[in-house]
Amino acid sequence: MKAFWEYCCDFGHRWHLTRDSDSEESDCNIYCHKGHEAVTLRREVFSSYVEVAIHPASRMVNEVTRHVDHEYEFFIVVRDIHGTEERFSQRIYSWSQTNSLLEKFRNVSPNTAWRILDNLDSNNYK
Ligand SMILES: [Zn+2]
Repeated sequence: MKAFWEYCCDFGHRWHLTRDSDSEESDCNIYCHKGHEAVTLRREVFSSYVEVAIHPASRMVNEVTRHVDHEYEFFIVVRDIHGTEERFSQRIYSWSQTNSLLEKFRNVSPNTAWRILDNLDSNNYK
């Protein structure tokens, strides 16, 4: 599972990493930007939210004419924050539609996100 790792040195410098909660520690992680070794580490596993990406739907239709289809349209991609599942919208959306739809995925669980994605795909947003 993905976790938030927060380190702090004796001089109060803090730095953060996002990586697997059970990943091995390495020297490149444990020194601050001034070269001080970390003296504390706080590790918190992420809640089960999702991350959302905008994926271009554009594709080259004709290699001779270089015609691009769906150039200004996008898929919405939703991923479990732990990287266990990823789903694409079945439909493609304009930039403005995509931006307004992203709000629906704020702070939702993966199961809720899959349901929202299914509902988007079954409604006529285009
Ligand atoms: Zn430091």
